[in-house]
Amino acid sequence: MIQLAQAQSIVLAQVAPLPVVETPIDLALGCVLGQTVRAVNDVPSFRNSSMDGYALRAGDTKGSPVTLRVVGSVSAGHLFEGTLGPGDAVRIMTGAPIPDGADAVSMVELCEANHDDGTVVVTTEVAPGNFVRQPGYDVLAGDVLAESGTPLRPAHLGVLGAQGIRMVPVHRRPRLGVLSTGDELFVDDGPLPPGKIRDANRHSLLGLIGEEGWEPVDLGVVGDDREALLDAFARAGQSCDALITSGGVSVGDFDIVRIVLDDVSGSSMRWMQIAIRPAKPFAFGTLAETNLPVFGLPGNPVSAMVSFELLVRPAIRRMAGHTNLSRAVVSATSTVDLARVPDGKVHFVRGHVSLDGEGRYVARPLEDQESHQLSAMSNANALLILPDGEGVGRGGSVRALLFYPADVTGLSDDLSAGGADL
Ligand code: AMP
Ligand code: MG
Repeated sequence: MIQLAQAQSIVLAQVAPLPVVETPIDLALGCVLGQTVRAVNDVPSFRNSSMDGYALRAGDTKGSPVTLRVVGSVSAGHLFEGTLGPGDAVRIMTGAPIPDGADAVSMVELCEANHDDGTVVVTTEVAPGNFVRQPGYDVLAGDVLAESGTPLRPAHLGVLGAQGIRMVPVHRRPRLGVLSTGDELFVDDGPLPPGKIRDANRHSLLGLIGEEGWEPVDLGVVGDDREALLDAFARAGQSCDALITSGGVSVGDFDIVRIVLDDVSGSSMRWMQIAIRPAKPFAFGTLAETNLPVFGLPGNPVSAMVSFELLVRPAIRRMAGHTNLSRAVVSATSTVDLARVPDGKVHFVRGHVSLDGEGRYVARPLEDQESHQLSAMSNANALLILPDGEGVGRGGSVRALLFYPADVTGLSDDLSAGGADL
């Protein structure tokens, strides 16, 4: 048996970030920047109003209330042709350019317009620059908009779009082939023949890939058939950046999968036994012809998903250009006794993590911890990590690898109170 960290480094040593390609900005969400991007323009690029109101000369409002002459109006996207003289005001909308001669805006709530004689009473003195957005106030030309290595979030796309940037240099989105193997898998509709089961793993693995924004490639189901396996590996080699198979990697397995994988990988496949539970068996290597990384996951549905979390995800994150390869691991208080027996392995317990009324993490394990009991996985938002030993007592601290945000219990009143103010 080898330690998890050792297995992870065997895998990580053999995967590299995918090439950086210019990609249309609206297809780049979640992709990782391969170069630092700087601003080409100031934002805003011209002085504009941050309020609906009246553009004026601040000096004219000394000793308010004062009456000013309304000499025009300007809305966003338009220009006021002309220059404000002493005693002049221009009705202005949010985002409209500040007219020449003006140096401040009085908000409309502090003005009383008199439409009969074309004047406005400004009730309160304003300071120069009041409600004026200056050029470069948000971004200056030359500023770093996003560093190389940044995963692009919606706000980044907005910042880049506001610069007129249409294409961004990002690492290509990984395309990942998923193949289920095993003679027991039955893919047709209709009643299950005796001894057959339906495929769970392809669906959960394609889901894990899609959820991350990577490109899933469904390579189907293949039984213990050499030709069909060779065909699937060839298809993966042509269209994918990595191949993820499930089934046929256990010690007792003399599945044809293993024999064929050894052949096509030039015997580069490492058949590992990792000191974890579940997901002990795992294989990794690269196809000889295409150098395609191949992850061989165990067939048990929970093991396949846990193996993906611990061994596939970090590697694919590296391929996608991420430098932070791991999920968030938080420290939680266990609500129950998490006893276990020493067996030389780290146990990953399907669990549920929530936030208590004080915003602290609390964890509980789910029932049904056998590696074929996928139903418990679907109620889990975390793997509770129990290092080799006797486990953690009730009220003790346990580390939890979160795959979904912790549910909030007891904070909902605060949140709805916050919401009411919006
Ligand atoms: P293996 O890793 O091939 O020894 O398979 C371990 C267990 O997982 C066996 O009970 C298989 O029938 C089951 N299994 C393998 N592949 C799948 C799959 N794609 N979906 C559901 N169960 C599977
Ligand atoms: Mg099998």
